[in-house]
Amino acid sequence: MEYGFARRELKDAKLGNSKILVNGEDIYLLLTVRRNVEVREHRNKLFIDINEDSVDCLLIDYNKKKATLFSIKHDIRRIRTNYRRIRKSIQEKVENPIIRDKLLAKYGRRERKRVEDRVKKIITLLAEIAREYDADLVRENLRDLKLNGKRKSKQLNYRLSTFPYRKFIAFIDYKFWERKLSVLEVDARKSSITCPVCGYIDKRNRIDKETFKCRKCGFTFNAQYVACLNLFSRLDDGMVAIRDGRIYLVSCKAGLVVPANVAPDEVPSLDEVPRGKPVPNRLVTSGT
Ligand SMILES: [Zn+2]
Repeated sequence: MEYGFARRELKDAKLGNSKILVNGEDIYLLLTVRRNVEVREHRNKLFIDINEDSVDCLLIDYNKKKATLFSIKHDIRRIRTNYRRIRKSIQEKVENPIIRDKLLAKYGRRERKRVEDRVKKIITLLAEIAREYDADLVRENLRDLKLNGKRKSKQLNYRLSTFPYRKFIAFIDYKFWERKLSVLEVDARKSSITCPVCGYIDKRNRIDKETFKCRKCGFTFNAQYVACLNLFSRLDDGMVAIRDGRIYLVSCKAGLVVPANVAPDEVPSLDEVPRGKPVPNRLVTSGT
């Protein structure tokens, strides 16, 4: 009976070796079927690094063999600083405790609303980009932001107090889930001070806000995008080359960032489309 069912339901499948398994009084028929499955083409990736003034992005388009860096600026930090000033002046100037608390609560609500509005707008934009480019979003791992662990550092506390990271990430996950888009997590620890080329970790790699220069291999790049490059590298999903400050996608499945100026062999020329392994449209899978 089951065999007949399998034949009917899996019309295009081939039946392979089957077994009868006896477990006490129960008898099972284990059917092996083989069928061709349609799989999606390689989905593109949108790597994001969330910061206080911007969300920095790296879009990898595997189909067009293109890597693009861009930044979404926002004013969340400014909003927060403004409201901090307002709160401070209320605390200083309003003596009546009932009125003071009322005012503080009112401005607290306003601040939350404004920040939330910005967060939602940024995420809607990210979701639109992800849909437009058929990309999975890759973000930092939430575990890196654990509040009650021992890894609570001063720097992390500062980051958490000035920017609603948790809220941001929770909204991303929700918005993307709602729109049937995927979110991937990557370990982002020390991603802003790690050299994406040689892996050397040093705070001094970050010369200033704009410049990253590795003290070991000399790789120099716009500091804003270094974290994105590290996320890309850690996902192990391709290889990009950087030449004269511009970025090129070289291949899928290699997980590397190479400065093309010093890369010994594979130097992508500016006109030449970088080589990449072809991605099969169809895969044959078998299942039981
Ligand atoms: Zn380096």
